Order: sequence, then structure tokens, then C-alpha cells
Amino acid sequence: MFALMQSTRTQSLHLCIDPPTGLKAVIAIHSEQRGPAMGGCRYLAYPDDESAMVDAIRLAQGMSYKAALAGLPLGGGKAVIIRNPHVENRAALFEAFGRFVDSLEGRYITAIDSGTSTLDMDCIAQTTQHVTSTTASGDPSPYSAMGVFAGIRATSMARLGSDNLEGLRVAVQGLGNVGYALAEQLHAAGAELLVSDHDPGRVQLAMEQFNAHPIATDALISTPCDIFAPCGLGSILTGQSVMQLRCAAVAGSANNQLTNLQVADQLENRGILYAPDYIINSGGLIYVALKHQGEELPSITAHLARIPSRLTEVFAHAQAEKRSPARVAQTLAERLLYS
Ligand code: NAD
Repeated sequence: MFALMQSTRTQSLHLCIDPPTGLKAVIAIHSEQRGPAMGGCRYLAYPDDESAMVDAIRLAQGMSYKAALAGLPLGGGKAVIIRNPHVENRAALFEAFGRFVDSLEGRYITAIDSGTSTLDMDCIAQTTQHVTSTTASGDPSPYSAMGVFAGIRATSMARLGSDNLEGLRVAVQGLGNVGYALAEQLHAAGAELLVSDHDPGRVQLAMEQFNAHPIATDALISTPCDIFAPCGLGSILTGQSVMQLRCAAVAGSANNQLTNLQVADQLENRGILYAPDYIINSGGLIYVALKHQGEELPSITAHLARIPSRLTEVFAHAQAEKRSPARVAQTLAERLLYS
């Protein structure tokens, strides 16, 4: 774990158990260089404790890059609560997690993420003030989807020469909070949707509401399309899976889509334009960060509207330097963090 912390330049890793509630949680603080570390809290099952720590560390690093490139005065952090099927009192579990967050005295600010809801954030708010995305402050997912939609248009412009999505075939992997809202916007813009989700109910709904074509979860990645939009969990772009892609570009909300940067080079070599995840999906962070600072909606949406130009700038650098946009984005983020 120390080797991973060193290679990712992670500042600290915090562990907590609370036997009365069954809480087993990890908070990774990647950087406080630009401000307190902000990032969501996942509530998921993991094959083992080490995988949960690795997930928190990698995600926290992405949050530092995301905040830096979005121009927010924040560092990056992430929390993972290891899902325990035997937990009887979910509210007590999240209140205990809030006490853990509070013990860090504002160095880490938590938020909603996969497996958690605004109601869970309300429970956390009972025991700490260092929490966002409560029912009062709102779910960031629609803002993440808004940013991804604008980012898909910018990606289409850069790769296909037009940001008109009419008739474009977009494959959306995962129809959760972000993926479903994204599908709605793509449908409204005239895109043809190919969708998959482990939950057949979500797929059925997208078929009824957006005329989407259902595709089996293991077949979506190799289905011909213009844009592949990963909106499920991370690490779906591996050395092997990239060879299956039959699209012009990858642009979606999932965090940590690439298993490593060599995968980005493979995408580049195959002529597939990659929209760096921590730029295109930064709408949710922008929303929670500015809301936490007391900003009003017009200023939040104005900030969010800068996502496509940020992507366009990275694509232009990548083209000029003949490098993957993922490598260009990392260089820019690290310059902001470390120089
Ligand atoms: P969610 O848990 O609401 O939805 C994820 C959906 O993806 C689920 O319905 C799940 O069944 C499906 N899924 C997972 N793996 C899949 C696969 N291989 N094939 C098909 N379906 C699959 O999560 P969310 O809040 O919508 O977030 C989606 C992704 O975007 C996550 O990686 C998250 O970290 C990232 N993200 C979310 C936000 C946000 O505001 N919610 C912000 C930035 C990044």
C-alpha cells in the first residue's frame, strides 16, 4: 500500500472501524495543496479490504486532478465504506462515518458517490459539517450529466468535425444517476442510443422513454458506434478491452476508466479520441464545491460551461504534441499541483 501511495503521491490514508454499527471505512487524502480534499463516498462491496484501499487511493488522485483542472481551490480525497450485507441500521452506519470524517477536522469533505444517496449524506450531516450533496444542497448527478453531454459535443467536434449529435450513435454503458440523465439529453439532441445496464429495469425504461436499443452488458463495448460513453464503474478500458472497441471516441462519466496510461496510448494508436474522465465528468464536483461555498446556480452553470473548452484545449495540445489527451491532461494537472 505504501508503494502505491508513493507512486500516486498520496498524502495520507485513514482507516476506521466502528463495531457497534459495522462501519469499515477508508478515507484517502491525495493532496491538500490547493485546499481541503473533497471527493465522494462509495458504499460498495469489495473482494477484500486491500481492493477498497486501492480504489480510494486511485480515486482520490483523480479528484486532485479534477479539482485542479476545474480551477477549484480544493485538493482531492475519496472515501470508501465497505458494504456489509448484515448492517441493520444504515442511518447509524452513516452517522458513524460522519464522526470519522469529523475527526479529520475539515481536511476531507465528503459527498455522494456510487452506492450512496442524498439521504445518506443527511445522516452524515448529523455528525459533521464537512459534507455536501445532502437533500438540502442537492444531488450533483444531473450536473455531472450536463457536463458529460457538453463534453460529448466537444469530443464529436474534435473527432468527427461536428457537434451536431443528430443521428450520432452513442453507446451508454450504465444507466445510473449520471448515465440515465445523459441518455435523456442525448435523446433530446437526436442521438441514436445503444444502452446496457446490469439492471434490466433501467434498460427497459430507456427503451420506453428514449427509444434506446438494448445491448447485452458484455457486448456493448464491441458494438459499432460513434461514441462509447462509459457511465458504470471504472477500469473498463484495459489493454484487451480497448482492442474490442469499434467507435471513433470514448467520452463518459465513469471515474478511472483507464487501467493505466499505456491503454491511452493504445486508444491513440487506434485513432480513438479519449476524453479524459476527470475533465469531462467534473460537473458534479463543480456543483458540490461551489454549492458548499454558497454560490448560486447561475455562477455554478457558468463554471460548468467551461468543460467543453477545457477538453478542446487538451485535444488541441494532444494533436500538436502527438500524445494521448490522457497524458496531456495529466501533465497539465501535475503542473498545477506540483510546480
Ligand atoms: P450509479 O451507481 O447511480 O450508476 C451506475 C450504473 O452503472 C448502475 O445502474 C450499474 O448497474 C451500471 N453498471 C455498472 N457497471 C456496468 C457495466 N459494466 N455494464 C453496464 N452497466 C453497468 O452511479 P452514477 O452516480 O451514475 O456514476 C456513474 C459513474 O460516474 C461512476 O464511475 C462514478 O464514479 C462516476 N461519476 C459520477 C458522478 C456523479 O455526480 N454521480 C460524478 C463524477 C463521476
